[in-house]
Formats: sequence, C-alpha cells, structure tokens
Amino acid sequence: MIKNPIPWPNGARCAVAFTWDVDADATVHVNYPDSADNHVATLSLMRYDPEIAIPRIIDLFGRYTIPLTFFVPGWTIENYPAAIELMLKNSHEIAHHGYLHHDNNRMSRQQELDILCRGIEIIKEATGRKPLGYRTPNVASNGVSRNTIDLLMQEGFEYDSSLFGDDIPYVLSNERGKIIEIPCLHGVDDWKYYMSWQDFDYRMQVLAPVRAIEIFKAEFDAAWEYGGMWMCVWHPPVSGRLARCAALEPLIRYMQDKGDVWFASMGDIAAHVNSVIQSGHWKPRIDKLPYCVSPIPALKDYMNL
Ligand SMILES: [Zn+2]
Repeated sequence: MIKNPIPWPNGARCAVAFTWDVDADATVHVNYPDSADNHVATLSLMRYDPEIAIPRIIDLFGRYTIPLTFFVPGWTIENYPAAIELMLKNSHEIAHHGYLHHDNNRMSRQQELDILCRGIEIIKEATGRKPLGYRTPNVASNGVSRNTIDLLMQEGFEYDSSLFGDDIPYVLSNERGKIIEIPCLHGVDDWKYYMSWQDFDYRMQVLAPVRAIEIFKAEFDAAWEYGGMWMCVWHPPVSGRLARCAALEPLIRYMQDKGDVWFASMGDIAAHVNSVIQSGHWKPRIDKLPYCVSPIPALKDYMNL
C-alpha cells in the first residue's frame, strides 16, 4: 500500500520514533497571560511533565535502550534544567518546539523568525549544538503558518515534523530549497484519548489505556506490514501518568518481539532519509509549497450564491 517504501537500515521492516512534546506549563502562560498565577491546578497538571513524568519516561525507555526525541519549548528549557540534564545524560535528542508554545498563525513573519532564533539559541546553549528538527507548537490545531517551513529552511533545519501529508518521510520543496518532513501520524496523538480539561478548552472522552494502546498498536502493525514508519506525538503529563505509562511497556515489548524494527531518534531518521536520497537508493515524494497563495478567489462569489 505504500508506493515507495524507504529502505531502512539493516533491512528493517519499519522505523519507530517515540517523540514527546514537553510543553510543561508554557501552555498555561500562553493561554492565560494575565491570570496564569490563578490557574494553580492547571499549572500543577503541567508541571507534572518535567517534575514527575520525564524521569519516569526516561527510566522506562532506558530499560529497553530506546532513543527518544523531545520537542521542547525554549521557556521549558530555561525553567526546568534538571529535566533537560536528564535527557542529555541519557543521550536523547532535544528538538525545537517554539519558545512559549505560541501560535505561528498569530505572528508576523519577523515575529515567527525571532521566536525561532531564540529557541535555537537556547537549545544551542543547553546542548552545545543547533537543533536538527522542529515541531510546531499546537501541532494538531494548525500551528503551521505560510512562513513556517520556509523559515526552517532559511535557518538550516534538517527536518520538520508538523505536517500530516504522508505515511512516511517525504520532501518539502519551495523556491528557497528543500527539507525532510517526518509526518505526524494522526491516530497516535495521546491528547485525543486521554485529555479532557476545561482550561485548554478541550473536551474528549477519556479512554482506558488498553483502548488507546490498541489504536497505537494497530498503527504500528500497519507500518510494519507495509514498510512504513510509526511515530507517536505524546505528552509527558498525559502518557506519563501511572496507568498510561505502565501500559506502554507491553507495547514496547510487542514492537521489539515482532523484530525487524529500527528504533531511532528523529535526527537519525532524517539523516538516514537524506543519505538514501543522496546515494540514489531512494527517491522521495516531493511536495511543492506553497499549496496555495491565498484562499480561492472564486470561492467568495460561490459562497454568496
Ligand atoms: Zn506542544
């Protein structure tokens, strides 16, 4: 069903990347700039992220020697150095996730660039190197503006992971150049299954971990069957809670026992994809941007009919 499967290292059937968006309470400050100090319960919910969930997750995946990728806003890095130190000590990747979990679609191009550069500098200072990859804040609610991908190319990012346009990595191209897109898998975002919280204006039916894992596993089985890739978009205060985190262990074992799976960081996946493109071993699908330069002009007339 996948027309152009990527040749993964060592003949693996599929690649697996466990990725975590470490928003912490940056989201509360952004949503409630004038009253965040009065949202104490929501702050506590989100501070659980670096304080409790990150050490637990790093312990769990460490037992299986699986690399992780953390997309971290600059503000979180500045405010929770112990969590960042733990990621680095365990050789996990730290990638860019904005500064204060802003909405790119509410920024001018210059504001978006300033925030991007600020996040790059903070990551450079914390890790000693530029981030390789980027995931927009608000990934599931249109956090990518018409400028975002172009700015990533301008600033020399190796990959983006904010879009949904394929099952496997592909190439985004515009007049400036190209960048690898490692697309999000729509069904493997933990907010949909576990989060329901009034301060975030987000109401969903909360699922039992066994039901959510069933969905994650079905996506993995399909990726394995068709030579694809499985990547989760998870959040430590959501999937790092006790019962949900405990439910991950059988999933990890299932993936490992199935065999022929390449567990990798996002940076390593982007590097591999780039190398098979360069060597001519794989021809990517190329998506040309922009998809459109404005809303369809005729649409207005049509809607008025
Ligand atoms: Zn986020």
